[in-house]
Amino acid sequence: MMLYLDHNATTPMAAEVKLAMEPFWCSDFGNASSVHRFGQRARQAIDLAREQLASLIAAPAEQIVFTSGGTEADNLALRGVFERGLADRLLISAVEHPAVAATAEALRQAGREVVVAPVDADGRVVLERLAELVDRRTLVSVMWANNDVGTIQPLEQIVALAHERGALVHSDAVQAVGKLAVDVNVVPVDLLSVSAHKLNGPKGVGALYYRRGLSLAPQLRGGAQERRLRAGTENVTAIVGFGAAAALAKSKLLAGEPAHWLNLRESLAAALEQRVGECWVNGAGASRLPNTLSIGFSGVEGAALLMNLDLKGIAVSVGSACSSGTAEPSRVLLAMGQSPRQAAAAVRISFGLGNTPEQLAEIVEAIAESIERLRSIEGAK
Ligand code: PLP
Repeated sequence: MMLYLDHNATTPMAAEVKLAMEPFWCSDFGNASSVHRFGQRARQAIDLAREQLASLIAAPAEQIVFTSGGTEADNLALRGVFERGLADRLLISAVEHPAVAATAEALRQAGREVVVAPVDADGRVVLERLAELVDRRTLVSVMWANNDVGTIQPLEQIVALAHERGALVHSDAVQAVGKLAVDVNVVPVDLLSVSAHKLNGPKGVGALYYRRGLSLAPQLRGGAQERRLRAGTENVTAIVGFGAAAALAKSKLLAGEPAHWLNLRESLAAALEQRVGECWVNGAGASRLPNTLSIGFSGVEGAALLMNLDLKGIAVSVGSACSSGTAEPSRVLLAMGQSPRQAAAAVRISFGLGNTPEQLAEIVEAIAESIERLRSIEGAK
């Protein structure tokens, strides 16, 4: 049996989403910029998707620009602010996704001032340090929740602190939207990135919310699409899928889906602790994404466990990309103060659509068997 437990990497597309997209592959193929009725159908579909996404994050629909994904949304936020001269210093957290961290590095190489705020042992930004680093000309970019460990940042306090000093705040909410209630009125960030494929939508489409009155420099030049903020003929099919995924996510949040994941996460952690022992949960002291369990087992490399589980048909992840059989320990865990050895032990299990309590026994057994095997190989060395 194949068991997918890597929903923070990507999610399967929901049947409702596929159904909503269907007509836009062939029959409703119009260009949303065309004046005739083919174009108008495409335009209406995009408008509806924008409303659906706006409703999920409680934003005005006209303040949302569709992009090719979370990465482009992050780039547009950071570069768009700097190129408009709205900030001259960028502050990011030490646990940002490469979509933010590498963009920050490129800005640094282009001569911009970039500072990195440290995190504590659970992956939370240290507010006292952040307070020392923010001034009126700073753009603060702190993710809503971390992809590796699931740590939720104290964003309400970060926004209050930054706004008090006149600074702007961007949040990469790619992992949070669809898993947590994200409301841009409750946490009034100036910019927020979202990606469809993390919430059972299609890959290659995302969005940036930007607060009313904020003027960003476009990163793609061309036609006047997306209120001149993102040139290029819209990917209508993908945008429609994004809208449908947002509507579905909203109904699932309202129906209490996160409580179901939390139950899976906590039950699995308890069962592993009992059955396998000598393990620890990363970020255990912080509020975390309800679907995310980052766990380490002593004497076992996360990458080796991942491969053993893959052979048994179970997909998990280590917090970092494996290349040519070797895995770099997660940057996030290193930033949390872990040793490279401890960080390399972690595996990330992330629940989502299709995971049920009935699967837990099989998961526990597969992990226990793999660990016994790996520990015995290690012991025999
Ligand atoms: N930000 C975070 C926190 C992510 O987890 C990801 C995807 O893994 C991204 C940004 C990039 O989003 P996309 O894959 O849509 O470009």
